[in-house]
Amino acid sequence: MKEIGKLFPRCPICKSKKGYEPSTFYPNVRCKSCEAEWIVHENGLELKRTSKLQWDSELLDKKYPLDFWKNLRAPQFQVKEQIFAPVDYVGGHSSYRNPAIGYILLKPDSITYKSSEGSLHKMNLKIAIEKLKALEISATKEITFALGPKSILVNSNKEYLVLSYKNHGNKLQHMIFDFHGQKKNVDELRILVSHLKKEKRKKK
Ligand SMILES: [Zn+2]
Repeated sequence: MKEIGKLFPRCPICKSKKGYEPSTFYPNVRCKSCEAEWIVHENGLELKRTSKLQWDSELLDKKYPLDFWKNLRAPQFQVKEQIFAPVDYVGGHSSYRNPAIGYILLKPDSITYKSSEGSLHKMNLKIAIEKLKALEISATKEITFALGPKSILVNSNKEYLVLSYKNHGNKLQHMIFDFHGQKKNVDELRILVSHLKKEKRKKK
C-alpha cells in the first residue's frame, strides 16, 4: 500500500491523488477514487478489477511494468459529443439535392449532419452508428466514378469526405462533404467513428 502510494502519487488510471486502500480481496489495493484494483508486484502492477471509468477493461488481469502504468493515458475515445466543422454538404444524397454549410455532430451512438444558421438550405440528418457503412476521404475523380456522370462536383483536384450509410429501405446512400482541407479534423472523426463501431459490435 505504501509502496504503490510512493510509486504512484496519482492513480495510474484516473490520475486522482486520493490515495489507495486495501481491497477486501487480499492482497489487492484499490484506488479510493476510481476503484480500480491492482496487485503490486516487485516490478509491475497487475490490474485485478477495472475502474469505474471502464476504458481500462482491456488491461484486466495483465501484469505490466511500472513504466507502462506511469505513461498510461486515458484514450481519447471518451466521446460524449463532439463537433466537427467546417463540414459543408456538397451533395450525393437522393433526398438532399442542395448544398449546405454546416457541421457534423458526433455522439456515441449517432452521427448527425446539421446545417448552420447561415445556411441557405437546411439539413438535420441523423444516422445511427451501426447504419454507417463508410467514412472515407476521396479525391474528386473517385467520387465522380462512384456517382456517375451526374456528379455535382465542380472543384477538381480536391479531396472530399464521403459518408455512406444504409437508409430505412436498406439502400446505400452517399453524402459528400467538403472539409476545407482540414484533414486532421476528419482523421480524428474517422478514428472515433471506427472505435465507436467496434464498441457497438462488442456489446452485441
Ligand atoms: Zn484511480
